[in-house]
Amino acid sequence: MDTWARSVSTDLSLISLECVVERLNRDIAPAPSLFDLVPDSIAICTPLTRGLRPGANRLTFRRAALGAAAHYVGTYPVLDRAVARAWLDAAAEPWRFLFVVFPGVDGISHLKDPFHPAVLESYRLVDRALGAFVARVRKQGDLPAFFVVSDHGMTAMREHADPAVLLEGDGVRTLRHPVHVWRRKARVATMVSGNASVQLYFDPRSGRGQPLTESTIPASLLDRLLALPAVRLAAWRADAGGVVVRTQQGMARLTETPGVICYQPDSGDPLGLGGYLELDDRDLLSRTRETDMPDAPRQLLQLFQTSRAGDLVLAATPGADFRGPWEIPEHMAGHGSIIVEHMEVPIAASVAIPDAPLRTVDLMPTILERLDVPVPSGVVLDGVPFSKIAAATEPLVR
Ligand SMILES: [Zn+2]
Repeated sequence: MDTWARSVSTDLSLISLECVVERLNRDIAPAPSLFDLVPDSIAICTPLTRGLRPGANRLTFRRAALGAAAHYVGTYPVLDRAVARAWLDAAAEPWRFLFVVFPGVDGISHLKDPFHPAVLESYRLVDRALGAFVARVRKQGDLPAFFVVSDHGMTAMREHADPAVLLEGDGVRTLRHPVHVWRRKARVATMVSGNASVQLYFDPRSGRGQPLTESTIPASLLDRLLALPAVRLAAWRADAGGVVVRTQQGMARLTETPGVICYQPDSGDPLGLGGYLELDDRDLLSRTRETDMPDAPRQLLQLFQTSRAGDLVLAATPGADFRGPWEIPEHMAGHGSIIVEHMEVPIAASVAIPDAPLRTVDLMPTILERLDVPVPSGVVLDGVPFSKIAAATEPLVR
């Protein structure tokens, strides 16, 4: 949301928010959204709107206006209270799927600390809003199924190691958001996310249609970036398909054939998996669960499937991010890396949760199954419904 939140006036924010929403909606185009598949949906404060019927998208403009204010001045409780009111108002309406976003916990954590009293208070606000909603719905009949989930974890940031500033210092012209987006003759573009991961594009205005692979990535820049203590891991596309994963101590390759992911260390053990592995996706998810980067093989392979992913991706160590203290407002906490603190999220649900590692993408097929909405033929969702995961983990009855 940075592109809109940094606009200087509310009007500009509104316009660029619309632009960002349109692009987010277009980016998810190959697969239907839950709103596409469940037309009787209402969404409150969502950045993704595709498939919502007219009038079903609540707080759009207030999200833009209050969201911009919240980003700069920290007035997230105002936005969260507006969400809570809209949620309560929706209780009496007909809907099959209700999607409610509270931006406060994330927003205030960025500005202060993930455990700051104001952040804990914003959790309580969500709790009270849920209680008020349940009380109102209970009066009207049966309760719906509930899923409460976060999209990422968060850590306090003690070190801002900005690759763009580092490269500029070396004389490498670097394009970065939001102040140097028009950098002339840029040799590198750095796109920070979250702020603990960054995607780097070499010769961003070359017009090249295909991303770079291992043999064409500038080795000197790679070595310079890998030497940063803030970097937990670097990854890029292998020449022959798959992904190369590198740390200062080691290098490995990830490849995927139907049904099997292969982790092949060339030196060391950068993902901490104990050596060569060939496992089914879900078995590998379980295996990575105890490492400091759960689900890293699947996440990295998936990331590089899109040609728009950077030529090179860096993920930060705990406590470090990739934006300098120049950022306004300075982020005191962040997310976006592939480390356990950012990857693990709580899932609370009123339905039985399988005793197995889950991904948040498993929620969509679970919700569809719950609503008796079939996944259209030809559509492949990333997740697996809880029912299938539970069936796979039950011991065989003899
Ligand atoms: Zn955030």
